[in-house]
Amino acid sequence: MTNAKDKRIKKLKKKRIWPSVFGLLFMLFLFTVIVIAVIASVGLDVFDRKMSDGSNQSAMVAKIYEGYTEESASHINEMVMTYIGLSPEIEAVGLIDSEGKKVWSSHNAYPDTERVTTFELQTFGTNLPMKIVVEEDLEEVFTLEDNEVTVNDDLIEALGLLRVFRDNSIVLGRENSNLVSFKIWFVVPVNQLNVYVLNNISINVQDLFMLLVSVGIFILIILIFTIYYIISFFSVIASMRKTTKIIYTDMVTGGDNWLHFVKKGASLLKRSKRNAKRYAVLHMRMRKYRSFCTCFGVQEGEALIEKLYCTAKKKLKRNELIAYHENAEFGILLTYTDRAQLSSRIEMLEKELSTVLPNMKLYFGIGVCEVKPGERDVETLYNNALIACDLLGEEAELQIAFFDEEMNKQKMWERKVEDEMERALTNKEFKVYLQPKISAKQEILAGAEALVRWIHPVDGFIPPNRFIPIFEQNGFILKLDDYMLEEVARIQAQWISEGRRIVPISVNVSRAHFTREDLAEHICKIVDKYKVPHDVIELELTESAFFDDKKVLLGTVQKLRNFGFIVSMDDFGAGYSSLNSLKELQIDVLKIDADFFRGENVEERGMLIVSEVIDLAKKLNMKIVAEGIESREQVDFLIEQECDLIQGYFFAKPMAIEEFVEKYKN
Ligand code: C2E
Ligand code: CA
Ligand code: CA
Repeated sequence: MTNAKDKRIKKLKKKRIWPSVFGLLFMLFLFTVIVIAVIASVGLDVFDRKMSDGSNQSAMVAKIYEGYTEESASHINEMVMTYIGLSPEIEAVGLIDSEGKKVWSSHNAYPDTERVTTFELQTFGTNLPMKIVVEEDLEEVFTLEDNEVTVNDDLIEALGLLRVFRDNSIVLGRENSNLVSFKIWFVVPVNQLNVYVLNNISINVQDLFMLLVSVGIFILIILIFTIYYIISFFSVIASMRKTTKIIYTDMVTGGDNWLHFVKKGASLLKRSKRNAKRYAVLHMRMRKYRSFCTCFGVQEGEALIEKLYCTAKKKLKRNELIAYHENAEFGILLTYTDRAQLSSRIEMLEKELSTVLPNMKLYFGIGVCEVKPGERDVETLYNNALIACDLLGEEAELQIAFFDEEMNKQKMWERKVEDEMERALTNKEFKVYLQPKISAKQEILAGAEALVRWIHPVDGFIPPNRFIPIFEQNGFILKLDDYMLEEVARIQAQWISEGRRIVPISVNVSRAHFTREDLAEHICKIVDKYKVPHDVIELELTESAFFDDKKVLLGTVQKLRNFGFIVSMDDFGAGYSSLNSLKELQIDVLKIDADFFRGENVEERGMLIVSEVIDLAKKLNMKIVAEGIESREQVDFLIEQECDLIQGYFFAKPMAIEEFVEKYKN
């Protein structure tokens, strides 16, 4: 798979998870910051208030000492004692004069004056009227008679009540559990005295009520957001799963698609090293699928593909994969122990799949690529399997081909040929070689066949069987044949102008040409450029062309003969129903295929057929050329049968023009 595709899929899958992750992290961060800020600000505020309460209390005490004289000392001290009794915040009061002498203390407590820090009083009331506020349910603690309040101290103690002096009033309430409490001395200079007031500062739950409420609200908000982000996080994960599923689902089969096959396959192969499993990648192709679709429609075709997929999938083990690729081709990843076991599994799989196929001429071609340790690129492995399958040929019914390196070399060679053919033609790397045709009666030169050779600047001499089949597949053969025809016409023209005795030279006309209706005119035009008589050019057609477009073939042959060219049928007897074509085709020369003179039964059957064919051709007024003749016995037999011309290594191999000229100059 391409990198760009990979990246896009990764992006698609990652896309939406980050906002919720970031959102969640951000919320946690915000939560922490806000809580710290609230605690700090509200806490400091509460502390401030407490300190200011303490300073107010101390100021009240100091106020009592304003009219202090030695005479009133005991009276004032008594008043202070009462005040202390009423204020739970005040623990003790101590008087120290300007020389540092301890004058009086309520509870024999003095501050460590060395460590006293002074600060300004924030509130200072004068002539504070005292009030008593009593919480409703505590009324019996007090009795009000003649404007005089009696406090039942015992009861206060027993109930564990707290006396709080606040805003010029004494508030009685139930005791609270303090969160923080500490003691602090306030000092107020009055006249010549320093009044030290020991304050008990305590912060309780009620004091922090606001703090707790605001923190609570924040926690609630944060919690809502956190829940929102957690939900969105999981929904993103769920939708990512859905996306992944869509990405990896095939539209035709509804199962795993090609991408899944490639990705999952690569990871299985990666793991195979650890679990010592052997894998094979298969390319399985249903042949004649197109004709099936033409007959029954694409929808039926796809339904068949789906059925095949499901059937095959059921036969797979864990850690094995199948995916539909395209054009009725499947990729399969199988585990196996040895070649024999693999073959039998594939055969079984094929048998199972064949039960799904309708009663039509549909069958499978299967290419197999056994995975070597360390190989992980599923697409390359699949391509190897495909190469192996390609070599089976379209026509063959079920066959299994195992990929080997030779096949790869062949494929690489094909690629190289395709890359270089145009350049080779322009640079005239293709050379005409001539193979003589010898008259059987006189054993003298009577014709020649032009055969192409590629003289490659690096690879040197390349025989035609290495590139002609490739050109026939990719269509380049049309250009090459034109080139050969032109070269032959040019050579003939040159030899005529040099006054040499010339013989007809034949060129091969590939089957691919017979799609154009003006083929005869086209050939004529090329030859006429060199103004050579048409009867020195012979055109070798193969029988196979007869099966492509009969009308074009018959018309072309007719026209070529009318133009005066010699037309011959090449490779007669090699495979096709030769005799049948003879009935309709009016040609000048019949070239009997070399196969008749090779292999088993040459003596009886082969020779019998040859003599019959020669007989038949004579009756149809055709000349006979026997090809591929290698021995004296064959020559003698052909002479006996009154064969006209003989072409073969016995007389000469195809040779370069210069050599041909040299050899046959006389
Ligand atoms: P072909 O047209 O049947 O050519 C005859 C082939 O048989 C030639 O192989 C020739 O060298 C070989 N041959 C001749 N006498 C003997 C013999 O006694 N014994 C053996 N074993 N072989 C013999 P070549 O040149 O390798 O060509 C192979 C094929 O390539 C040709 O078969 C023809 O089909 C194709 N080809 C060659 N040149 C061209 C061309 O210019 N255009 C086209 N379309 N095809 C060409
Ligand atoms: Ca030929
Ligand atoms: Ca031939």
